[in-house]
Amino acid sequence: MHFYRPLGNISALTFDLDDTLYDNVPVITRTEKEAFEFVRNFHPSLNALEVDAFHRVRQALRHAEPDIYHDVTEWRRRAVERAMLDAGLSEEEARAGADAAMVHFASWRSRIEVPQETHDTLKVLAKRWPLVAITNGNAEPHLFGLDQYFQFVLRAGPHGRSKPFSDMYHLAAKKLHISPAEILHVGDDLTTDVAGAIRSGVQACWINLRDTNLMRATDSRLLPHMEISRLASLTALL
Ligand SMILES: [Mg+2]
Repeated sequence: MHFYRPLGNISALTFDLDDTLYDNVPVITRTEKEAFEFVRNFHPSLNALEVDAFHRVRQALRHAEPDIYHDVTEWRRRAVERAMLDAGLSEEEARAGADAAMVHFASWRSRIEVPQETHDTLKVLAKRWPLVAITNGNAEPHLFGLDQYFQFVLRAGPHGRSKPFSDMYHLAAKKLHISPAEILHVGDDLTTDVAGAIRSGVQACWINLRDTNLMRATDSRLLPHMEISRLASLTALL
């Protein structure tokens, strides 16, 4: 554990989800693959759809609506709908198809393996502080047993712009009736979690799970208050 700035009073902890509380890589890789196959198999005219073509549809949407990336779920749904329309499906078919694709996506997305260490650590921390999840992604903690530790979950899109914007950091403080400075945010990303928290007036704990050197990381902008290499280290703050 390293300290780079003096820690102030802590009244609540907020957590990033993906790659902070579990390894997100295996599940998202599998989910992307299964979700794409679902779209391809949805209708004969989609059978020839290529990954690159679908990616271009996503980028075209973002180009037309620059703010859509804040809500990754809606962005994906709209991209599927667009790809289905482009393949010649009717508006009604495309809407129903996109909805079905998102249900399928969510079922794969939730097959997350949460390490026992995460359960043990959150359980202990939750006895001392209110815990909140703040995610830019589409994981749903109630589908893989993590919701029990959180007072609430904030999600980019429905709850504001994605991190590093301050929207969700400030909303968390407001909902907890505390000042942003009384929050310690824990996350793996130096931009969205660390720089985002610091610029929002929130204390930041960087979880460095890949043995990255903070002084050499290309995405290192602002020093966190502290760095840990495993979640269980947080219990030292108790
Ligand atoms: Mg993350």
